[in-house]
Amino acid sequence: MSPEKPSILVTGGAGYIGSHAVLALKQAGYDVVILDNLVYGHRELVEKVLQVELIVGDTGDRPLLDDLFKTRKFEAVMHFSAYAYVGESVTDPAKYYRNNVVGTLTLLEAMLAASINKFVFSSTCATYGVPDILPIPENHPQDPINPYGASKLMVERILSDFDVAYGLKSVRFRYFNAAGANPDGLLGEDHNPETHLIPLILLTALGKRESISIFGTDYDTPDGTCIRDYIHVNDLADAHILGLEYLLKGGDSEVFNLGNGSGFSVREVIAAAETVTELSIPIKECDRRPGDPPVLIGSGEKAKTILGWQPQYPSIQDIVSHAWQWHQKRHQ
Ligand code: UDP
Repeated sequence: MSPEKPSILVTGGAGYIGSHAVLALKQAGYDVVILDNLVYGHRELVEKVLQVELIVGDTGDRPLLDDLFKTRKFEAVMHFSAYAYVGESVTDPAKYYRNNVVGTLTLLEAMLAASINKFVFSSTCATYGVPDILPIPENHPQDPINPYGASKLMVERILSDFDVAYGLKSVRFRYFNAAGANPDGLLGEDHNPETHLIPLILLTALGKRESISIFGTDYDTPDGTCIRDYIHVNDLADAHILGLEYLLKGGDSEVFNLGNGSGFSVREVIAAAETVTELSIPIKECDRRPGDPPVLIGSGEKAKTILGWQPQYPSIQDIVSHAWQWHQKRHQ
């Protein structure tokens, strides 16, 4: 019999990317506990689909964390819980700095007090700001243009300093645009409010919304709309398992982009959705959304070389099609 795998605490495990990672961890044989404040996470998902222990609480709640770490032994923490609406971060930055920075700092201090020194962190391509080089390499300067990106960059800096001072080892993943859904139809994207492009397009296809707004048609891109690198949520989840295993084997702190290295404009994503759904999707051309860089495309080569990461679903058609299966089931 193979030896038992260690216990992992997953913050934000009841949310979109976190839930896909929890499923992957379970399937890989890890013992998982979720900490989620359920502001955006779904209790039902944890109870019915993931079937792991759920602790309802905040990463900023130090007494709760101290209690948890006294009663349970965790080898590592995977930290997904964060606010992640770019537009809202511009209008309410305090919410982002309090939760994403102060909450994470509290979690890290509690971990160190409990001698847990392995951390897998969800960072973002939004830390780069407006890139000079495409696809963006990890050593590209980081100069975020919205508070969401700034809050994640602050945590990246804390992690570098904590490694030097306290020996905290971390893998920092800079995600490009997480999208798609578990191909088995078990999990998917279910934000409330929903602000992300692919789910909004599909909700329009389902007749739940009148049209899809295109935020900006005058960008310096071939069709005037923003270009993003969409990465399948299952491929993100796989990378997290590899990142965790890298740390468990004694790997040093590292940062990895998680992107496919190819970008699609807003109009191209709408076209892909029309192909997948075989429906015509009404559009509405709108002003630019504050905080949006024109093009974000990431090189995932470093994660492939060092972690052996191999995205299974790099095609935009697959990404949209899995999301479509999920949305049809969710709204039937
Ligand atoms: N977008 C859009 N209409 C929408 C939602 C998003 O045109 O209703 C654009 C947005 O401006 C960005 C891209 O689609 O260029 C992806 O946005 P999303 O919110 O999905 O992810 P983000 O890039 O903010 O992480």
